[in-house]
Amino acid sequence: MNGRGRLAIDGGEPVRRTRLPYARQSIDATDVAAVSAVLTSDWLTTGPEVARFERAFAAAAGTRAAVAVSSGTAALHLAMLALDLEPGDEVIVPSLSFAATASCVAYVGARPVFADVDPDTLLVDPADVERRLTPRTRAIVAMDYAGQPCDYAALGRVAERRGLALVADACHSLGASYAGRPVGSLARWSAFSLHPAKVVTAGEGGVVTTDEPELAERLRALRQHGISTARPAADGQQGWLYEQVELGFNYRLTDIQCALATSQLARLPVFLDRRREIARCYDAAFADSELARPLVTRAGCEHAHHLYVLRLELDRPGFVQLGASRGEIYEALRAEGIGVQVHFIPIHLHPYYQRHFGTAPGDCPRAEAAYERILSLPLYPAMTEADVGDVIRAVRKVLEHFACSRSLCSASAPGPGQSSA
Ligand SMILES: *Cc1c(COP(=O)(O)O)cnc(C)c1O
Repeated sequence: MNGRGRLAIDGGEPVRRTRLPYARQSIDATDVAAVSAVLTSDWLTTGPEVARFERAFAAAAGTRAAVAVSSGTAALHLAMLALDLEPGDEVIVPSLSFAATASCVAYVGARPVFADVDPDTLLVDPADVERRLTPRTRAIVAMDYAGQPCDYAALGRVAERRGLALVADACHSLGASYAGRPVGSLARWSAFSLHPAKVVTAGEGGVVTTDEPELAERLRALRQHGISTARPAADGQQGWLYEQVELGFNYRLTDIQCALATSQLARLPVFLDRRREIARCYDAAFADSELARPLVTRAGCEHAHHLYVLRLELDRPGFVQLGASRGEIYEALRAEGIGVQVHFIPIHLHPYYQRHFGTAPGDCPRAEAAYERILSLPLYPAMTEADVGDVIRAVRKVLEHFACSRSLCSASAPGPGQSSA
């Protein structure tokens, strides 16, 4: 085989010369002006921009309060602290997530218990959550994988029946909604990330949303060393007085970051429209593929499309299938200039959890099987039509190269350099 069809990894012409990343922030002149204005103002850190951002975020999430913190991980940490867990308490977390979803449980001395996912959505499976409950279970963390809200109705029923707190890791799903209600308002409290790969960014940053004003006050104290924002009762002369009421942290988000985040949040509807448009292009391109399948979006959900994930057909019972591993396909696509990624390594497989919590391969078989097959395609608002077309062409080129008929696959999988069957 020669010319166009040859894979870049075998020395052929790549689909692109410059690699598309899987995610990228969109910063415009308005964002720059908002940040510049703060730099010459009286406040660099906690000032008027924090309060302004928190009001705008609470409005977007449909909650009474939003508390800005220094990262999504800090938001999750405070969300776990607010549960007042004790050693030995258990929190159910999805296995197929970023490490921080479980780290936050370990931070507070509790035990993360990993639940398996639904193979079609890769969202945590409420029935599996139920199977993992013990008398020590205190809370469930729902994670809106790729930007699609979890089955909050089912998770809410499990939580309610057993008197557990339902907490959301909504780091992927700002702007999504479930049964007409915005993410942020679907759990007792919800944690968001403002990392540049996420839907809107502050450089680094996070938010906790809640409808409970007392909880919001407590979180505001916890992000500031545990110092209460309510002034202690004193005779008015002692203006220096403050009270540390519990052990907190410096998890503040600066005014500089909040100015950027507020400016970005105003653009959220535009970002979401573009993300949804790109996801529709990918859906249309791969809907009929025998070699890869898009994830399923359930009815009643408005997706935020933080990620676009394809599942490779590595062992589909049919005539045509892929004669290569996800690793080979990943490398081939990177060589074509497409910055694919893998979200995520199941958390229970990380050495830390195996060593400290006794987890092992086999604990969450559906998450593990999914992990072997998933690839995230580039998806961010600034992608052009040509960029989207390059991704589609490259995925087709690589998958078709590795496609083989069942009989040939079992005889010998084509290695790099061999032509497709
Ligand atoms: C990004 C992410 C986090 C952590 O957010 P940071 O802002 O990077 O700390 C937590 N959970 C999930 C699912 C994430 O994707």
